[in-house]
Amino acid sequence: MALDVGVVGAGIVGLAHAWSAAERGHRVTVFDRSPKASGASIRNFGMVWPIGQPAGDAHAVAMRSRARWLQLASEGNVWVVPCGSIHLAHRDDEWAVLHEFADLAPQLGVECTLLTAEQVRMRSPAANPVNLIGGLFSPTELCVNPPAAIRSIPAFLSARYDVHFEFSTAIMDLDSGWTLAADTRRWVFDRVIICGGADFESLFPAELQRSGLKRCKLQMLKTRSQAGTWRIGPHLASGLTLRHYHNFDVCPSLDTLKRRVATETPELDRFGIHVMASQNDEGCVVLGDSHEYDTDIEPFDKSAIDELMLRELHSVIDLPDWTIEQRWHGIYAKHPGLPIFKSEPLPDVFIRTGTGGAGMTMAFGLAEQDWEHWS
Ligand SMILES: Cc1cc2nc3c(=O)[nH]c(=O)nc-3n(C[C@H](O)[C@H](O)[C@H](O)COP(=O)(O)OP(=O)(O)OC[C@H]3O[C@@H](n4cnc5c(N)ncnc54)[C@H](O)[C@@H]3O)c2cc1C
Repeated sequence: MALDVGVVGAGIVGLAHAWSAAERGHRVTVFDRSPKASGASIRNFGMVWPIGQPAGDAHAVAMRSRARWLQLASEGNVWVVPCGSIHLAHRDDEWAVLHEFADLAPQLGVECTLLTAEQVRMRSPAANPVNLIGGLFSPTELCVNPPAAIRSIPAFLSARYDVHFEFSTAIMDLDSGWTLAADTRRWVFDRVIICGGADFESLFPAELQRSGLKRCKLQMLKTRSQAGTWRIGPHLASGLTLRHYHNFDVCPSLDTLKRRVATETPELDRFGIHVMASQNDEGCVVLGDSHEYDTDIEPFDKSAIDELMLRELHSVIDLPDWTIEQRWHGIYAKHPGLPIFKSEPLPDVFIRTGTGGAGMTMAFGLAEQDWEHWS
């Protein structure tokens, strides 16, 4: 039976739900309070990053999302490049972790290959050769341009599935009968999915406040377009990143690496800094990032964080043009133990948020799981 479905939030989680619902024949309306999506989903690296997910269910969801991104590229004309990724090792302890992960990968069901320093440089001219020991190549990562992708998906969903979008519409109330209310207008739905990202105040604040969700702020930088046809190749991640993604938790040497970083460069732990780089279709290199949580979050960005990120980036990557064209921060919602926070505060009213640093990687697969379950 076709349902009237209301989705609050036109970030990646809301769009993923709108797509999965519309494909199943439901009539979908998406609301966003901004004139165009402006949340975490347009502020990220554009890295679809299955390698970072722990092996098993989470990795399978990420691979499913990956397939959806590729579908979107062919059906929706969205720029998506299967560039893969390289984790660089410039220190012995980083190399040890990569070795351990590569040894375990076949039994984890993860595809990846160790590269010598020379092989790394053949795949990416941006890998800094000074002290480079080698790298771990994974073929599964995709590159998207977040503002362009997130802002073009609504046009695809409207044209293909007649999904209706109400931008500049803040939903401030939801009562029984699943009436969404904004200013003086009201809509009635059979099912509502609330995908409000880091907004914990507008709808069901008590539910969200006891959920365990946290807010996290990340600072980001972007270079101007690199000259000519220069391309970074795969996404690049430094050895510091091995501390960040839980897929590497299975590596016995990870503790040694973490202790070394904590002793040598405690300022990186203080601001949750690990560094990565991706290059968009305009030739700009997106660089980041840092992590500050909840009460540490200030509206003002810290130049000290940008300087630390650039210091670390210079030691692992080599760009023809380091001119920084844009700086910004993004805030996402993160659940400490779950890939996404799920709740049903009223019958057929669902909250879906808290994808942390992996929403671009996980949202499409998670939405598909929900709609299969609800069908
Ligand atoms: C700097 C940064 C880098 C990142 N890098 C990556 C990456 O490379 N790869 C990756 O997989 N993930 C990455 N992430 C994580 C990813 O961006 C997030 O997990 C994801 O964007 C969250 O999507 P969302 O739809 O939940 O939230 P959002 O994108 O924030 O969307 C929520 C939307 O809901 C709207 N809204 C909220 N409340 C209401 C209301 N009451 N009425 C109407 N509208 C409402 C908001 O206006 C907003 O548009 C990164 C995040 C950041 C911040």
